[in-house]
Amino acid sequence: MANQSINPNLRAKRKAHPRKAEDYVAGIVQGNRVVLSKAITLVESTLPKHQALAQDIIEQCLPYAGKARRIGITGSPGVGKSTFIEALGQQLTSLGQQIAILAIDPSSQVSKGSILGDKTRMIELAANERAFVRPSPAGTTLGGVARKTRETIILCEAAGFDTIIIETVGVGQSEIAVHSMVDCFLLLLLPGAGDELQGIKRGIVEMADILCINKADGNRVALAKRARQEYRNALHLFPPKTSGWTPKVLSCSALEKQGIDDLWETVVAYFEQTTTSAYLAQKRAEQSKFWLQETIDAALRDWFMQQPQVAAQLADIEQAVLARKISSFKGADLLLQLALEPK
Ligand code: GDP
Repeated sequence: MANQSINPNLRAKRKAHPRKAEDYVAGIVQGNRVVLSKAITLVESTLPKHQALAQDIIEQCLPYAGKARRIGITGSPGVGKSTFIEALGQQLTSLGQQIAILAIDPSSQVSKGSILGDKTRMIELAANERAFVRPSPAGTTLGGVARKTRETIILCEAAGFDTIIIETVGVGQSEIAVHSMVDCFLLLLLPGAGDELQGIKRGIVEMADILCINKADGNRVALAKRARQEYRNALHLFPPKTSGWTPKVLSCSALEKQGIDDLWETVVAYFEQTTTSAYLAQKRAEQSKFWLQETIDAALRDWFMQQPQVAAQLADIEQAVLARKISSFKGADLLLQLALEPK
């Protein structure tokens, strides 16, 4: 065989350093984690050369994507998200699943610090060969980070993961972004505190398919039971979901690994119901449409802001609006005219 003349070390090296999109895709589809990580790094890169290659890889991975369960997990800092994901991850991998954990951390864009604090988290899962933990990509805007995460989902699905967990902190807009890229949205709550106290907005409670009161252990068991009942009552006040699914309220102890199996059974029931009713397919189609619109909006805005005529006049027009010499609408109109003027 001709190939035998190639030094095997060299061949291994070449495999680990793919150059062309086809090489990346072949590695990803075979489930090669090193190649997958490198492809995700390309997705996260801001270099135009990397971005072009990343787009090529994503397009070619698309036919292999779409088969995983996409689960979003949110909750305030300290509610126990990473402890919970460790526990759930262990349960799923012990069932033979391959799982990927991605994060959207809105804090890292602004402060360089991170609420999720990825590096020290999920140590056990990070060492589990059936699990793939990828920290939140850095980015200047939530939209940018969300897009990278959505692209990363495609790559992970092509790599054959059964379940993809996307984690975020429930304190900003990031949970809306996560909601628009997952099939099932899970909200973790603390026992004995109302939404207000937990910094959880009503809108997030409304978006959740499953609510789970974590830390239902020790002397918090009774509190957790009460919180469960309160949330159940509160959910009755919301209009029924278009999915036909009635949100469930459960409790668990991520630390003691109690209630995780019930939670997973509920997730499976959610997928069964929404798959049978074809709601899931419809939801994914709507999400694709939403991301198409979002991407167009972002690209148009970037283009607009990069126009030299706009950059030259933006500050003056802003001042004119603030001084009430012109309306906001007139100001926007003027800038649009400038952007569209033939150069
Ligand atoms: P995150 O910020 O939401 O990711 O929360 P962490 O998973 O880092 O947990 C915050 C703290 O709560 C840690 O000290 C955990 O040990 C603790 N914790 C998490 N889950 C539980 C639980 O089920 N019961 C108890 N008692 N403590 C927990």
